[in-house]
Amino acid sequence: MTKQLILALSKGRILEETLPLLADAGLRPAEDHGASRKLLFDTNLPDVKLVVLRATDVPTYVQLGAADMGVAGKDVLLEHGVEGLHEPLDLEIAACRLMTAGITGAEPARARRRVATKFVKVARRWYAEQGIQAEVIKLYGAMELAPLMNLADEIVDIVDTGNTLRANGMEPRELIATISTRLVVNKAAMTMKHDRIMPLIQRLESAVAARTPR
Ligand code: AMP
Repeated sequence: MTKQLILALSKGRILEETLPLLADAGLRPAEDHGASRKLLFDTNLPDVKLVVLRATDVPTYVQLGAADMGVAGKDVLLEHGVEGLHEPLDLEIAACRLMTAGITGAEPARARRRVATKFVKVARRWYAEQGIQAEVIKLYGAMELAPLMNLADEIVDIVDTGNTLRANGMEPRELIATISTRLVVNKAAMTMKHDRIMPLIQRLESAVAARTPR
């Protein structure tokens, strides 16, 4: 295991909210991430590097120890599984809900409901827990198109304001999980790099607490 500490960040919406939080915790990329196509960055802290990944790849990097720590949405963690990972901190950013949704006012017609989603494991588990027979269809994007195109009766997707659903004639139905962004740590790294990881977790914890007065 290398001496340096690698923190894997999720690209996109989460990244834009993560960087200010990291800055509050005293960790900054050494250069402007937006100005370069680089994905691996030095930081102001010696031996701490940032790597920017597709959100769904973050748990894989951390689980396998290629990164020591990661920042990932709970939706991604629920779908991926958290074996080999500690989840010490809720960063309380990019909050949203994982929900079922369908065409407004429409009753699910089939006895065996067709569900389109990119969260196939979460969806299979949730429908089974509800005692609803479901055929889960994996999609990679534009879930809200599936009921309109008669590919599915329902979708399982992230809902924030609900505007995307409404714009497509759909309504949110059941809440599966409330989602926010979490800090995850490789279990072996947590033991072997404890002295380096703990202060960073503590500074992040203070930064989160400073933003959300309780
Ligand atoms: P909204 O129209 O505000 O309900 O946003 C819904 C869409 O935005 C979903 O299809 C998601 O892909 C995306 N979205 C909203 N919030 C988040 C989030 N916190 N994390 C990831 N995707 C999100």
